[in-house]
Amino acid sequence: MTRLALDHEAINLSQGFPDFEGPPFIVEAAVDALRAGHNQYARSQGHPTLVRAVAGHIERRSGLSYDPLTEVGVFSGCTEGLMSAMLGLLDPGDEVVFFEPFYDSYPACAAMAGAVPRYCPLRFPDFAVDLEHLESLFNERTRMLVLNTPHNPTGKVFDREELTAIGELCREHDVVVLSDEVYEQLVYDATHVSMAEIPGMRERTLALSSAGKTFSFTGWKIGWCTGPAPLVAAAQAAHQFVTFATATPLQVATAHALDACGAEFYDGLRAEYRARRDFLVDVLRRVGLRVAVPRGTYFVLADFRDLWEGDDVSFVRHLCTEHGVAAIPPSVFYKAEPEEGRRLVRFAFCKRMETLRAAAQRLEGLAK
Ligand code: PMP
Repeated sequence: MTRLALDHEAINLSQGFPDFEGPPFIVEAAVDALRAGHNQYARSQGHPTLVRAVAGHIERRSGLSYDPLTEVGVFSGCTEGLMSAMLGLLDPGDEVVFFEPFYDSYPACAAMAGAVPRYCPLRFPDFAVDLEHLESLFNERTRMLVLNTPHNPTGKVFDREELTAIGELCREHDVVVLSDEVYEQLVYDATHVSMAEIPGMRERTLALSSAGKTFSFTGWKIGWCTGPAPLVAAAQAAHQFVTFATATPLQVATAHALDACGAEFYDGLRAEYRARRDFLVDVLRRVGLRVAVPRGTYFVLADFRDLWEGDDVSFVRHLCTEHGVAAIPPSVFYKAEPEEGRRLVRFAFCKRMETLRAAAQRLEGLAK
């Protein structure tokens, strides 16, 4: 899509990266770290200042306390954390449960670990968890469930009740939860609850997050995990030989960002994203798309069938070549029920308001 967008000078609402800069004081912290000589390999499990900052951040957010030296790990982005956790915790033949649609690295990680994926669909437009279906996927080979809340690409934020029900199944079947929470700060009409906060789940949840979305530096690739020491150690065992250590000066700068940012920063971030979300949702509705209003993340899924008879790939091609707006065909995020995704389109709204306004003007052409 990015290539097609470039060829057609399209406004790129496809891939999820901001077209604006993150906070300048964090960039300054990175420059300071480089100049202060934080330029050699970091501790493989994470720079001491960052693991301490992560533990502090999680404690402030959820009240959960983690030992920085044994219960926190650092990775080159959440993506490497996902890979290391699956390599470290899954044996060939183990089964792993994903919700569908999924962040596309999940099945790839499972494949590289030799694990067998099972999919539980979240269906447009409410993306409710079908607990009966979920339960039917569990058996004696099930080792892990991968959760993503707030959820890409649906914008769903799992609530406490759903997490409790999912957690019960995991406890019953002695299953570990890998909880991808990279959008933890981007929630609008909901509260982010981590699976680790559900009673009885801290001891079987490895939670992952990263600096990319929260601080608008997706290119930094600084990620972390928190969880009980044996789960962190398993992910670390793989990380040791996947990347060994993550960029030292950016770890130091991220530690500074986590220590410095409090409620005021996160509230401001959410307010900006809420305005972008509301603007885009309104435009998409006006031009005739059926929208599932996201409660979290910076993505929105919409059903285009009132406007277009083909599948999602043909629709996004048309949107890009004829209207100059690039989006993602979500069928790539489905394995079990790809037809669910073939009627949908995903837009990213992590863009400046002027980018969104320019996209809106072009999207108006769809209504004609
Ligand atoms: N998890 C999800 C659900 C994501 O959407 C993304 C980014 N698209 C990531 C993980 C990647 O995070 P990072 O850049 O820290 O590797």
